[in-house]
Amino acid sequence: MLLSSFPHQQRITNTLQKSLEAGKISHANLFIGADENEMETMAAAFAQILYCQNPPSRSPQSGLPTDFCGECHNCQLIAQKKHPSVQWIYPESKIRVITTDQIRKLIQSSQLKSLSSNYDINILCSADRLNIQAANAFLKTLEEPVPGKIFILLTRDPEKIIPTILSRCRRFIFEGINRPVIDSSTANWLSSFAQIAVASQGRLLSRYTLLDSLLGQLAIQQNIIETELKAQSPLSKYTEAEESSRERWEKELQASVSSEYRRCRANLLSALELWLRDIWLTKINNSFSELSYFPDLQNHTEAIAAHLSEEQALQNLKIVNKTFKILDTNVQESLALEVFLLKLSF
Ligand SMILES: [Zn+2]
Repeated sequence: MLLSSFPHQQRITNTLQKSLEAGKISHANLFIGADENEMETMAAAFAQILYCQNPPSRSPQSGLPTDFCGECHNCQLIAQKKHPSVQWIYPESKIRVITTDQIRKLIQSSQLKSLSSNYDINILCSADRLNIQAANAFLKTLEEPVPGKIFILLTRDPEKIIPTILSRCRRFIFEGINRPVIDSSTANWLSSFAQIAVASQGRLLSRYTLLDSLLGQLAIQQNIIETELKAQSPLSKYTEAEESSRERWEKELQASVSSEYRRCRANLLSALELWLRDIWLTKINNSFSELSYFPDLQNHTEAIAAHLSEEQALQNLKIVNKTFKILDTNVQESLALEVFLLKLSF
């Protein structure tokens, strides 16, 4: 049972084994996760199972192996990325994209190979880096499945993959290991924000209620930060100090308040981004994803997902990403956040 070497990804290994047992292997698979190495190892494991010469278990129903030994010639070749029927595609060129040329070569070589072996496995790493022409060329191969030809796409940013490819893939969502920790005050705020969003039913006026909620929470955090850092500053300890020292401390205090505030603001927006991601996941899965970050917000998430299109849910994620970048420049915060909330779809 070498699949058991992924203790954090039990949900995925179970699904994989179930489909092998039933003999139902999808020709297009998409791995969505935070750790590229882990996804690559899992993709290799998938190929190793199909090619293992000494599988430790086999399904009586489908006759397919359900695990791999890790030691036979094929298992080792695949682990070293040298197996002739398992191709690895990485972004190339200066701007790190997967080009049309790479896709064309992949299609041609896999046409030859599928004649000589049972499976032809193609693993596309950083599949979100397919340029648009390459994506369209690739889409054609996904639309015409060939028996034995299997694609595994790996990505950390599924929102950057064109929807027509996304919808054709069976999706495997990995447990995230780099998830940020959301403090309880932020979680409480998000819950009330979500409630307003649901009640707003897309009305423009409610956007300003959402904006008030966001700015209100930021003001609360700013206050806490100021009070805490002021208490730690020498300003409050040495009230009789010279004017020049006091000026310097004052400047230091302002700088640390501002950097701490930026950190908190980024946390708050990250929480909002994670919730928008939950909505998107719910939309593309047609049901609340068990891997959602905020299980407590299931009702709100489902309510919003129900009246958004997949495109709108995806667009929300792009908008929050853009806002992160804008806030990093010296733009006026309240204006940037107002534009942000007006653009979101709820
Ligand atoms: Zn083996």
